[in-house]
Amino acid sequence: MHPPVAPLIGVVASYHRVTSSSPGGEDRLFAGAYEAYLRSLIHAGALPVIVPLELAPAALRGLFDRLDGILLAGGSDIDPILYGAPAVHSTTSATEPERDLTEIAITRWATEEGLPFLGICRGHQVANVALGGTLYQDIPSQLSTNIQHDNPGRPLDYHAHHVRLEPASRLAQIAGLTDLPTNSRHHQAVERPGQGLVITARTADGVIEATERPASPFFLSVQWHPENLYPHDPAAQALFKSFVEAAAEFRHERLNILAD
Ligand code: MN
Repeated sequence: MHPPVAPLIGVVASYHRVTSSSPGGEDRLFAGAYEAYLRSLIHAGALPVIVPLELAPAALRGLFDRLDGILLAGGSDIDPILYGAPAVHSTTSATEPERDLTEIAITRWATEEGLPFLGICRGHQVANVALGGTLYQDIPSQLSTNIQHDNPGRPLDYHAHHVRLEPASRLAQIAGLTDLPTNSRHHQAVERPGQGLVITARTADGVIEATERPASPFFLSVQWHPENLYPHDPAAQALFKSFVEAAAEFRHERLNILAD
């Protein structure tokens, strides 16, 4: 018998350039993930592992095959070319091409193979683009709304708006609520949902705030930041915990298949 082992959750890295503190020193590139995601995953019972960028396709696939779940985190805007659109607004910020490619490949594999998937903010938008959906590139210039979806300068757990959850959704079952106060730090949003995705939450202005893929065992994504709400918010804790439980179940089933 195998003792229970924490599921391995892949978190795709992002690059951060760190300027040398020495005069004339060279900048250094770091690949990492925002600590609040890792801390929330660990507290919920998982072992997060950073997925490096620019792996050869076979190496990325080899790493994917050892994972029990995928978390795609927040970050900068996805290159609009990946959903067939020209850049429509100057606020579409610097893109991360290596991360786009890695995350889209992993999302499609997770979809095909039923690997549990949680997308957050940019990760919610990547899931949509990977499955053929489109994005609003800039909410303030493309949509009419009196809700502030981007809240620079506010605390990370600031309740910017409420989202209305579809009562029949997996997300509503997990949260135990259909009216959820959330933080909000995004200037883009899902426009047309990708293939197989259903909309599970919106704000009062109609902006899509969450989607899920009912054909998958666990494939959820949210536009807000539960990693910042996690310390004090039972709904955010329940979201991470149900994701980690799904990953543990995926791992368990795979081990059973291997043992047969
Ligand atoms: Mn929002």
